[in-house]
Amino acid sequence: MNQVELINVSKSYDKQSHVLKEIHLMIKKGEFFVLVGPSGSGKSTLLRMIAGLEEITDGKLLINDKVVNHLPPKDRHLSMVFQNYALYPHLTVEQNILFGLHAKKVHKQEQKRRLLETAEMMGLTELLKRKPKELSGGQRQRVALARSVVSEAPLCLMDEPLSNLDAKLRSHMRMEIRRLQKKLGLTMIYVTHDQVEAMTMGDRIMVLNDGHIQQLGEPITLYNEPANTFVASFIGSPK
Ligand code: ADP
Ligand code: MG
Repeated sequence: MNQVELINVSKSYDKQSHVLKEIHLMIKKGEFFVLVGPSGSGKSTLLRMIAGLEEITDGKLLINDKVVNHLPPKDRHLSMVFQNYALYPHLTVEQNILFGLHAKKVHKQEQKRRLLETAEMMGLTELLKRKPKELSGGQRQRVALARSVVSEAPLCLMDEPLSNLDAKLRSHMRMEIRRLQKKLGLTMIYVTHDQVEAMTMGDRIMVLNDGHIQQLGEPITLYNEPANTFVASFIGSPK
C-alpha cells in the first residue's frame, strides 16, 4: 500500500518559473525514502507541500490513497522535523516534547504515558526538566526527534535534521533515526544534501536537480547504474 503518492505535481512561487516540474512518485508504507539533491533543487518545497505548509500549484497529492491537496496540516497524520530543530527556548524538554499534543487535544493521562515512553526510548528521562540551553547539540536533536515520535504519526518528514551536528554525532544519529524508524514502522521521507547520508540510510533514493527527478531507485542501483552524469557525479560512482 502507498503511504504517499504524487501525481504530476508542479510548483511555482511566481507565475513564470517552476521550482518543481511534474513530479510523479509513490512512497510505500514503512519505507525509508530519501530525497537528495543540491541546494535550491526543490527538496524543502516538496516536503512542505506534503506537510501542507505550501500550496500545490498543479497535480495531486495522495496520503493513504486519499487526495489531500487542500487538507490542513493538522489533519494529515504526519510529523515534521526541521533542520534547526526549532525548540522553544523558554520551555523545558518535557514541555517541548508535549507541545504539539496540546493543540491536538490529547488527554492529559495519555500525554503522560507517551511522554514517559518516548523519553525512555530516546534516553531523555533524566533531562525532562532542563531547558534547551542546558543541553548538548545531540541532546537537542533527540528532543526534536522525540517531539515527532510522541505524535505517534505514521508518516515522518525530516528536512536535513542533522546538518547542524558535527560529523561524529551525525553518524551516530543516522543509526538512531534508522533504528527508530524500523522499531516504530514509520514511513520516512528524509531530505538531505549529503550523499553519504542518502546512500547509507535510504531504502530508495530520489535524486532531484533543478526541480526534475534525475533518478529514483535503490542505493546500489544509483551507484552501479547512474541514469546520467549528474547522478554519477553526485553519488560519486565511476561513470
Ligand atoms: P532546497 O531545499 O533543495 O534547497 P528549496 O525548495 O528551498 O530547495 O528551493 C527551491 C527553489 O525555490 C529555490 O530557487 C528557492 O529560491 C525557491 N523558493 C523556495 N521557497 C520560496 C518562497 N517562499 N518564495 C519564492 N521562492 C522560493
Ligand atoms: Mg532545503
